Amino acid sequence: MTEDCIFCKIVAGKVGGPPLYQDDEMTAFKDINPQSPTHILIVTNQHLASLNEATEADQAVLGRLLLLAAKLAKDEGIAEQGYRLVINNGREAGQEVFHLHLHLMGGRKMRLMG
Ligand code: 5GP
Ligand code: ZN
Repeated sequence: MTEDCIFCKIVAGKVGGPPLYQDDEMTAFKDINPQSPTHILIVTNQHLASLNEATEADQAVLGRLLLLAAKLAKDEGIAEQGYRLVINNGREAGQEVFHLHLHLMGGRKMRLMG
């Protein structure tokens, strides 16, 4: 756990409620400021600041993030109508929390850029 990282604290159960999903590699929880009716964040339990820090050793867990997103979309009932997966990587892309995370958003019609 990295001190001062809000997502590390959520993974550790120190802040926030119970996660939607957690195993020994990944945690999923609702975004505090949802941009769509379904807005879930999926994070690696291990602190990785961004994709820039990912290595071959992270290949499997990064793949599993996508599979978990698809499973959660099914659980949320939005798999058929569609959903969007987003990773904001770096400041200019809008990354605000520097702990790698995947946004799973759906439940409304998306425009190209939002
Ligand atoms: P980013 O802009 O880094 O891609 O996305 C960060 C996301 O984390 C934002 O959508 C923001 O609403 C969410 N967020 C920030 N702090 C918290 C928090 O303490 N709890 C939860 N559940 N979400 C958070
Ligand atoms: Zn972290």
